[in-house]
Amino acid sequence: MATLWQRCTEKIEQEVSPQTFSRWFAGIEELDSSENTLAIRAPDPFTAETLRSRYWGIIRDVLEQEAGPNVMIALSASDAPANGTIVPRAPAPDEKEAEPPERPAFLNPKYRFESFVVGNSNQFAHACSLRLADGVGITHAPLFIYGGVGLGKTHLMHAIGHRILDQHPRARVFYTSSESFTNEVIAAIRQDQMAAIRNKYRKVDILMIDDIQFLAGKDRTREEFFFTFEALQRNKKQIVITCDKMPKDTPGLEDRLRSRFSSGMIADIGAPDFETKVAILQKKAAEQGHFLNREVAHYVAEKVRSNVRELEGCLIRLSIHASLHNIEIDLPVAQEVLRSIIRDPARNSSVDNIQKIVAEHFQVRVADLKSKNRSRSYTVPRQIAMYLARKLTSASTTDIGRRFGGKDHSTVIHSTKKIESLIKTDPSLSATIQTLEQKIDIS
Ligand code: ADP
Ligand code: MG
Repeated sequence: MATLWQRCTEKIEQEVSPQTFSRWFAGIEELDSSENTLAIRAPDPFTAETLRSRYWGIIRDVLEQEAGPNVMIALSASDAPANGTIVPRAPAPDEKEAEPPERPAFLNPKYRFESFVVGNSNQFAHACSLRLADGVGITHAPLFIYGGVGLGKTHLMHAIGHRILDQHPRARVFYTSSESFTNEVIAAIRQDQMAAIRNKYRKVDILMIDDIQFLAGKDRTREEFFFTFEALQRNKKQIVITCDKMPKDTPGLEDRLRSRFSSGMIADIGAPDFETKVAILQKKAAEQGHFLNREVAHYVAEKVRSNVRELEGCLIRLSIHASLHNIEIDLPVAQEVLRSIIRDPARNSSVDNIQKIVAEHFQVRVADLKSKNRSRSYTVPRQIAMYLARKLTSASTTDIGRRFGGKDHSTVIHSTKKIESLIKTDPSLSATIQTLEQKIDIS
């Protein structure tokens, strides 16, 4: 008879992608399980950590289905770290005495691990980045970090670069934005110099490409990137990529690229919670040699909804004001200074506001969104508006249904699912949604 863990894995296999399954679950060993404990062992600590932070919910659900709610899981890890360290290029004989090369200009000196504040929203991405930089536990799989604008993706990438160079000053670390990469490829094509680029990129020890979503739709660049990517992987070099979405949701990324990304480490960065925002503000203020009054830090953290870059913007305004007028920043001063840039989040993401913006965008009336008219020119905007209402407000599906002319909550769920799946296949819809989200965000 199949053991408890075997039965669980059969179910898990149905829930996750084959890549995820083989990367994270296939190596788990079942130890002696007792009546109320399932004892399993991961092949290395990193896998155990990932199972805990990423897949705990699935494991618990499946276990509960198989053995009821009272069985505990004891997950341990073999301590042999998985192989995969960065091997720096051995210095050539005549280089040995020389000074270590200067830090490349593409690494922002401020973006280091030391200056990165870790909170719930970025803890996993931070842990993956640190592991990769230290060369432990990642078997040359690409690291894919995704998340919205201004949440610290670029910061983490540069931090990886610095840390590798701290430990291996001669490692060939390379960072580029997708835009520069694209420009380079275009220029090389024009000057018939593709071989030179290929050489350059394929010689690196670690390649980091930022904001890969900008490669979408640029066929030649994407192809070149793909070749580079393959060559580096073949040679067991590290690759780090950032994007604004999950690989599977990035339109215009070829399947072969997408499946490569999916087999690597995928870490998301979310919007920081209140405590993390306060900690970031205080750390940044301290770095600039200012002291930030706690009341003011709380005020800014509460008002700035998600974006860390915006937090910094507020801080800069405050410090300019403080030095111009030579005054301490207290709460009333902060409120006054920041009034023009801080918006009221409650107002932004109301269902009404979303309906207005969507209606205006599609040139229909809000009443049409609320009506039962099933003509396509109304159903698509209606479904989009419902999707956005679900995504951007805390209103329940029942509540949203009610605000769309008394529709059933199942209609809201159906519409949301429909748009979610369309976004994946239809880049222009996806772009429309992004535009709408921006409009809603700045309204
Ligand atoms: P992204 O690349 O995701 O758009 P960035 O990495 O450029 O975001 O981050 C925007 C700004 O916010 C940077 O100045 C960065 O230093 C700062 N930042 C983001 N997250 C953190 C964090 N957790 N701790 C400290 N600073 C952060
Ligand atoms: Mg960035």
